[in-house]
Amino acid sequence: MTATAVLTLNLNILFWSSHPSPSFGANNYIPFHEPSFIIMTIQEHIPLAAYTTFNIGGPARFFCIAASEADILEAVTFAREKDLPMFILGGGSNLLIGDEGFGGLVIKMELMGIEEKIEEGNNGKRMLSVGAGEQWDSFVDYAVERGLYGIENLSAIPGTVGAAPVQNIGAYGAEASQVITSVRAFDTRTRQFVDLAGPECHFSYRESVFKKEKGRYIITRVYFSLDPNGTPNTTYKDIVDYFSQKKITQPTLKDVREAVIAIRWGKLPDWKLWGTAGSFFKNPVVTAEAFDSLKKRYPELPGFPEPDGRVKVSLGWILDKVCNAKGLCKGNACVYEKQALVLVTKPGATSEEVVALAHELMASVKEKTGITIEGEVEWVN
Ligand SMILES: Cc1cc2nc3c(=O)[nH]c(=O)nc-3n(C[C@H](O)[C@H](O)[C@H](O)COP(=O)(O)OP(=O)(O)OC[C@H]3O[C@@H](n4cnc5c(N)ncnc54)[C@H](O)[C@@H]3O)c2cc1C
Repeated sequence: MTATAVLTLNLNILFWSSHPSPSFGANNYIPFHEPSFIIMTIQEHIPLAAYTTFNIGGPARFFCIAASEADILEAVTFAREKDLPMFILGGGSNLLIGDEGFGGLVIKMELMGIEEKIEEGNNGKRMLSVGAGEQWDSFVDYAVERGLYGIENLSAIPGTVGAAPVQNIGAYGAEASQVITSVRAFDTRTRQFVDLAGPECHFSYRESVFKKEKGRYIITRVYFSLDPNGTPNTTYKDIVDYFSQKKITQPTLKDVREAVIAIRWGKLPDWKLWGTAGSFFKNPVVTAEAFDSLKKRYPELPGFPEPDGRVKVSLGWILDKVCNAKGLCKGNACVYEKQALVLVTKPGATSEEVVALAHELMASVKEKTGITIEGEVEWVN
């Protein structure tokens, strides 16, 4: 049975949240349209499965929706007073929530809004300030429709804008960190809203300070610099092949978005039909010597040089060709037939089944290649 608790608004908290974001200028004050009698609802025992693309997960002990920075302050205060752990939920597309659920407060992010302005003295580049709760792909669509380059290769990635910096989403030769100029967040350690400039976010492959210092920051807005005079980034092999097949020699921005969407649909499961969180593991990054030694055993193993001299290895290839994992199932959890890096679930699947399958794959990769692989999807319990 679902019960509901209601919090009364603390006016001091509302004033505290009204400071401007230095990175977006004076017009970025938190809107003060919220009347002072606003109250936020905190619900209890809310099943989380429907909030994730895996369609798996037990209930949240407490659950609320944050639509403003004031809501976040209220939620944090509630959790502190009750000494509860907090979990920040976006679109639930990179999560595996345990069957027993989460024993603290889940804060679902629904801060919305896109603001755009021209960056002074920067060749007409646009600065966009985007609410953490906006759908990532709707934002990509918005940018492409306005002729703004920079995120088109990240088309059709599920989830919210607020989660994009967390794992520095990437695909088809692009990463969000290439265009994120700063991130606004509530720092639960100092209890203040902060604006972290790009370098302070410590972005790297599927990493950031938000992931390394898990639980410290609650992201409310992300700032992007996009270029109306950019050029399409078509160096990724799948994109080259797509345009060559279509005989398109000078692809436009919209062509790139369409190409990425078409390529993704051909490879990835439809998360509206299957339970999935996309790539379940990160591609491992190994030393150049380790890669050479693997190449002697597996001459066709694909590898991509990293700026630090190491090599990112295709785990999908290893799982497919070395571990023969495509189609492998544990109960209702299976390795996707078209891409071994992706796990999918059938109705009725449990978190335990997915974890059992993941452990089997990790052990198989370790035994056959010596590589220890890490999850890209976050396991929450
Ligand atoms: C079919 C499919 C394809 C995918 N393809 C890709 C891909 O190509 N590239 C890629 O990088 N990822 C991919 N993903 C993974 C996923 O879409 C991204 O990681 C996405 O950014 C997750 O967003 P979300 O809002 O769903 O976050 P959630 O899954 O809800 O949360 C992920 C993490 O971010 C934290 N978080 C979320 N919002 C905030 C916030 N506002 N403040 C602080 N922390 C927050 C959560 O606490 C959690 O730790 C794919 C997933 C699926 C299902």
